[in-house]
Amino acid sequence: MSDKEFTIAAVRVEDMEPLSAILSALRHARKKHPGALTPHERMTVLTEEVGEVAQALNDTGMIGCREAMKGELAQVAAVCIRMMMGE
Ligand SMILES: [Mg+2]
Repeated sequence: MSDKEFTIAAVRVEDMEPLSAILSALRHARKKHPGALTPHERMTVLTEEVGEVAQALNDTGMIGCREAMKGELAQVAAVCIRMMMGE
């Protein structure tokens, strides 16, 4: 089995929803902010997005926080992907 086949086999059906949300956030971010940033600038964006996850958690508490954080977590992942891609 190749590395690519192994990676695809490791993805569960229930992973599709968060992965889809991440890809949607990535597409939205690239459309809204198409330019590349320096790593330091992108780090600032990442920190802001992580802060928004914390804000969503604080606003909702333990009950319902996962649902409230989903969008922000997808945005964090999208920023991470852009950093990994050197955007
Ligand atoms: Mg956000």
